[in-house]
Amino acid sequence: MINLLGAYNNLSQYFGPQHWWPVTPKGKLCPEYSGGPRNDKQKLEVCFGAILTQNTSWKNVEKAIIELNKNSLIDVNKINKIENKKLARIIKSSGYHNQKAKKLKNFCSFLLNSYDGKLSLLFRNGIEKLRNELLSVNGIGPETADSIILYAAKKPVFVIDAYTKRIMGRIGYREQTYESLQELFMQKLQNSEKLFNECHALLVELGKNICKKSPLCEECPLSNHCGYFKMLTSKESDLAKWR
Ligand code: SF4
Repeated sequence: MINLLGAYNNLSQYFGPQHWWPVTPKGKLCPEYSGGPRNDKQKLEVCFGAILTQNTSWKNVEKAIIELNKNSLIDVNKINKIENKKLARIIKSSGYHNQKAKKLKNFCSFLLNSYDGKLSLLFRNGIEKLRNELLSVNGIGPETADSIILYAAKKPVFVIDAYTKRIMGRIGYREQTYESLQELFMQKLQNSEKLFNECHALLVELGKNICKKSPLCEECPLSNHCGYFKMLTSKESDLAKWR
């Protein structure tokens, strides 16, 4: 059984603070890693980013957010009113742009119809109700809902993404579901929004740079926790089943 707090400490020492989620500072166009959203507009940008980042890299989302900023479209009413095709063109860099344009519009229409367009009202809900509300929006699944809850609403829920699944699978938690992995983190770590924020960000950093498709295990700060690494360094290694 992995010591998750120990693994978190190793990652934190190795990579340093992550300052998630990237948001656009006032007067600028490009999101920056500066400690997360501080106002409603930046919280809405996090919600849009969580939808846009489905099945694509952050680099592509960043370009889409720059375009949204150029068109002053980090705005619930404006997204609700804009034509689907026009919005899709603006967010083209994020991939699946037609679907994502619909998803952004679905989210804004939900917010307007149920919460007077105000994130602050939506975020007054407890985690369970908030999660159910978000999951009721067509185009928002568990990872997107949890990203919004953690990074926009700043409530403690653990986000599981493809990097986390891959890393945990190699460490020894294979064939786990989204829910079972989430439960593992939430049971083993202190229930803290700041800790969940940083831990998820660090896992993404590890997945992007070290625990890649072809992992760079020699450089990895988690090698002493990892079943794959043990197999790699043992004589009877059977790597195929860990990939
Ligand atoms: S030791 Fe290798 S396989 Fe294990 S987490 Fe690190 S990079 Fe991934």
